Amino acid sequence: MRVAVVGVQGDVEEHVISTRKAMENLGISGEVIATRKAGIVSKSDAVIIPGGESTTISKLIFRDGIADEIIQLAECDRPIMGTCAGLIILSKFGDEQVEKTGTRLLRLLNIKVRRNAFGRQRESFQTKLQIKNIGEVDAVFIRAPIIEEVGSDVEVLAKFQEKIVAVQQGKILGLAFHPELTTTKVHEYFLSLF
Ligand code: GLN
Repeated sequence: MRVAVVGVQGDVEEHVISTRKAMENLGISGEVIATRKAGIVSKSDAVIIPGGESTTISKLIFRDGIADEIIQLAECDRPIMGTCAGLIILSKFGDEQVEKTGTRLLRLLNIKVRRNAFGRQRESFQTKLQIKNIGEVDAVFIRAPIIEEVGSDVEVLAKFQEKIVAVQQGKILGLAFHPELTTTKVHEYFLSLF
Protein backbone atom coordinates (compact mmCIF):
# COMPACT_ATOMS: atom_id res chain seq x y z
CA MET A 1 0.00 0.00 0.00
CA ARG A 2 1.25 3.48 -0.83
CA VAL A 3 0.10 6.55 1.08
CA ALA A 4 0.94 10.05 -0.14
CA VAL A 5 1.16 12.98 2.26
CA VAL A 6 0.79 16.35 0.56
CA GLY A 7 4.08 17.99 1.52
CA VAL A 8 3.90 21.53 0.24
CA GLN A 9 3.56 23.18 3.67
CA GLY A 10 2.50 22.43 7.26
CA ASP A 11 3.02 19.51 9.64
CA VAL A 12 3.94 17.00 6.97
CA GLU A 13 6.55 14.91 8.76
CA GLU A 14 4.26 14.23 11.75
CA HIS A 15 1.69 12.68 9.39
CA VAL A 16 4.36 10.59 7.68
CA ILE A 17 5.54 9.23 11.04
CA SER A 18 1.99 8.55 12.33
CA THR A 19 1.01 6.78 9.12
CA ARG A 20 4.15 4.59 9.23
CA LYS A 21 3.43 3.68 12.87
CA ALA A 22 -0.21 2.92 12.04
CA MET A 23 0.90 0.63 9.20
CA GLU A 24 3.26 -1.16 11.57
CA ASN A 25 0.53 -1.56 14.20
CA LEU A 26 -1.85 -3.03 11.62
CA GLY A 27 0.82 -5.23 10.01
CA ILE A 28 0.38 -3.52 6.63
CA SER A 29 3.43 -3.34 4.43
CA GLY A 30 3.77 -0.28 2.30
CA GLU A 31 5.32 3.11 1.95
CA VAL A 32 4.48 6.64 2.94
CA ILE A 33 5.74 9.42 0.70
CA ALA A 34 5.64 13.17 1.32
CA THR A 35 5.28 14.94 -1.99
CA ARG A 36 5.50 18.51 -3.31
CA LYS A 37 5.07 17.59 -6.94
CA ALA A 38 2.49 16.04 -9.25
CA GLY A 39 2.90 12.37 -10.12
CA ILE A 40 2.96 10.73 -6.67
CA VAL A 41 -0.64 11.14 -5.49
CA SER A 42 -1.93 9.62 -8.73
CA LYS A 43 0.15 6.50 -8.05
CA SER A 44 -0.99 6.19 -4.41
CA ASP A 45 -3.79 4.27 -2.70
CA ALA A 46 -4.62 7.03 -0.24
CA VAL A 47 -3.70 10.64 0.43
CA ILE A 48 -3.43 12.90 3.48
CA ILE A 49 -3.62 16.69 3.42
CA PRO A 50 -1.96 18.03 6.63
CA GLY A 51 -2.63 21.12 8.68
CA GLY A 52 -0.78 24.34 7.98
CA GLU A 53 -1.99 27.45 6.20
CA SER A 54 -4.95 26.63 3.97
CA THR A 55 -4.38 29.66 1.72
CA THR A 56 -0.80 28.57 0.96
CA ILE A 57 -1.48 24.85 0.63
CA SER A 58 -4.44 25.50 -1.68
CA LYS A 59 -2.46 27.83 -3.93
CA LEU A 60 0.41 25.35 -4.32
CA ILE A 61 -1.65 22.20 -4.92
CA PHE A 62 -3.82 23.87 -7.56
CA ARG A 63 -0.77 25.44 -9.20
CA ASP A 64 1.25 22.24 -9.32
CA GLY A 65 -1.41 19.74 -10.40
CA ILE A 66 -1.70 17.90 -7.08
CA ALA A 67 -5.30 19.09 -6.61
CA ASP A 68 -6.44 17.36 -9.81
CA GLU A 69 -4.76 14.15 -8.71
CA ILE A 70 -6.55 14.24 -5.33
CA ILE A 71 -9.89 14.73 -7.11
CA GLN A 72 -9.12 11.75 -9.37
CA LEU A 73 -8.29 9.63 -6.33
CA ALA A 74 -11.68 10.55 -4.85
CA GLU A 75 -13.35 9.48 -8.10
CA CYS A 76 -11.67 6.08 -7.65
CA ASP A 77 -13.11 5.90 -4.11
CA ARG A 78 -9.71 5.92 -2.37
CA PRO A 79 -9.29 7.06 1.25
CA ILE A 80 -8.53 10.75 1.66
CA MET A 81 -7.92 12.53 4.98
CA GLY A 82 -7.63 16.25 5.64
CA THR A 83 -6.71 17.65 9.05
CA CYS A 84 -7.23 21.29 10.05
CA ALA A 85 -6.12 23.29 6.98
CA GLY A 86 -6.51 20.02 5.04
CA LEU A 87 -10.14 19.81 6.19
CA ILE A 88 -10.75 23.35 4.92
CA ILE A 89 -9.33 22.49 1.50
CA LEU A 90 -11.44 19.32 1.20
CA SER A 91 -14.66 21.28 1.83
CA LYS A 92 -17.30 22.28 -0.65
CA PHE A 93 -18.07 25.62 0.98
CA GLY A 94 -16.06 28.03 3.10
CA ASP A 95 -16.85 31.12 5.16
CA GLU A 96 -16.17 34.75 4.24
CA GLN A 97 -12.45 34.39 5.14
CA VAL A 98 -12.11 31.60 2.60
CA GLU A 99 -13.95 33.71 0.02
CA LYS A 100 -12.01 36.88 0.78
CA THR A 101 -8.64 35.17 0.41
CA GLY A 102 -9.78 33.51 -2.82
CA THR A 103 -8.85 30.10 -1.42
CA ARG A 104 -9.79 27.39 -3.92
CA LEU A 105 -11.41 24.33 -2.38
CA LEU A 106 -11.41 20.73 -3.60
CA ARG A 107 -15.18 20.54 -2.89
CA LEU A 108 -14.99 16.82 -2.08
CA LEU A 109 -16.66 16.97 1.36
CA ASN A 110 -20.24 18.16 1.32
CA ILE A 111 -19.77 20.57 4.24
CA LYS A 112 -19.34 24.25 5.04
CA VAL A 113 -16.31 25.21 7.16
CA ARG A 114 -15.44 28.26 9.22
CA ARG A 115 -11.73 29.09 9.49
CA ASN A 116 -10.09 30.05 12.81
CA ALA A 117 -13.42 29.40 14.51
CA PHE A 118 -12.23 29.30 18.12
CA GLY A 119 -10.98 32.88 18.08
CA ARG A 120 -8.04 34.49 19.85
CA GLN A 121 -8.97 33.36 23.35
CA ARG A 122 -8.57 29.72 22.39
CA GLU A 123 -6.09 29.76 19.55
CA SER A 124 -4.64 26.47 20.67
CA PHE A 125 -5.79 23.86 23.18
CA GLN A 126 -5.87 20.13 23.87
CA THR A 127 -8.87 18.09 24.96
CA LYS A 128 -10.12 14.53 25.17
CA LEU A 129 -12.47 13.78 22.32
CA GLN A 130 -14.75 10.82 21.70
CA ILE A 131 -14.74 9.93 17.99
CA LYS A 132 -17.27 7.56 16.46
CA ASN A 133 -15.66 4.34 15.07
CA ILE A 134 -12.31 5.33 16.62
CA GLY A 135 -12.73 5.91 20.36
CA GLU A 136 -11.23 8.47 22.69
CA VAL A 137 -8.22 10.49 21.57
CA ASP A 138 -6.27 13.50 22.80
CA ALA A 139 -7.13 16.17 20.27
CA VAL A 140 -4.91 19.20 19.69
CA PHE A 141 -6.67 22.19 18.15
CA ILE A 142 -4.43 24.89 16.62
CA ARG A 143 -6.23 27.90 15.13
CA ALA A 144 -8.76 25.28 14.17
CA PRO A 145 -11.74 25.48 11.86
CA ILE A 146 -15.18 24.05 12.65
CA ILE A 147 -17.75 22.43 10.43
CA GLU A 148 -20.86 24.60 10.35
CA GLU A 149 -23.09 22.66 7.98
CA VAL A 150 -23.12 19.07 6.74
CA GLY A 151 -24.95 17.48 3.81
CA SER A 152 -27.15 14.41 4.29
CA ASP A 153 -24.40 12.18 2.87
CA VAL A 154 -21.96 13.24 5.61
CA GLU A 155 -21.62 11.42 8.92
CA VAL A 156 -20.65 13.42 12.00
CA LEU A 157 -17.89 11.56 13.89
CA ALA A 158 -17.18 14.03 16.71
CA LYS A 159 -18.34 17.23 18.32
CA PHE A 160 -16.60 19.53 20.79
CA GLN A 161 -18.82 21.92 22.73
CA GLU A 162 -21.67 21.28 20.27
CA LYS A 163 -19.46 22.15 17.32
CA ILE A 164 -18.77 19.53 14.65
CA VAL A 165 -15.04 18.78 14.51
CA ALA A 166 -14.83 15.45 12.63
CA VAL A 167 -16.79 14.05 9.69
CA GLN A 168 -16.72 11.20 7.21
CA GLN A 169 -18.24 11.01 3.75
CA GLY A 170 -17.61 7.62 2.15
CA LYS A 171 -13.85 7.14 2.44
CA ILE A 172 -13.10 10.81 3.00
CA LEU A 173 -12.25 11.94 6.54
CA GLY A 174 -12.13 15.55 7.68
CA LEU A 175 -10.83 16.56 11.12
CA ALA A 176 -10.56 20.05 12.61
CA PHE A 177 -7.73 18.98 14.97
CA HIS A 178 -4.28 17.38 14.69
CA PRO A 179 -4.38 13.62 15.41
CA GLU A 180 -0.82 13.19 14.09
CA LEU A 181 0.52 14.95 17.21
CA THR A 182 -0.93 12.59 19.82
CA THR A 183 -2.19 9.26 18.47
CA THR A 184 -2.06 6.68 15.66
CA LYS A 185 -5.69 5.59 16.20
CA VAL A 186 -7.08 7.98 13.59
CA HIS A 187 -4.48 6.92 11.01
CA GLU A 188 -5.24 3.26 11.74
CA TYR A 189 -8.94 3.89 11.09
CA PHE A 190 -8.03 5.82 7.94
CA LEU A 191 -5.92 2.92 6.62
CA SER A 192 -8.71 0.46 7.44
CA LEU A 193 -10.97 2.29 4.96
CA PHE A 194 -8.82 1.04 2.06
N1 GLN B 1 -5.90 28.48 10.65
C1 GLN B 1 -5.32 27.70 9.59
C2 GLN B 1 -6.01 27.99 8.27
O1 GLN B 1 -7.07 28.53 8.23
C3 GLN B 1 -5.41 26.22 9.90
C4 GLN B 1 -4.58 25.91 11.10
C5 GLN B 1 -3.99 24.54 11.11
O2 GLN B 1 -3.99 23.82 10.12
N2 GLN B 1 -3.44 24.19 12.23
O3 GLN B 1 -5.48 27.68 7.26
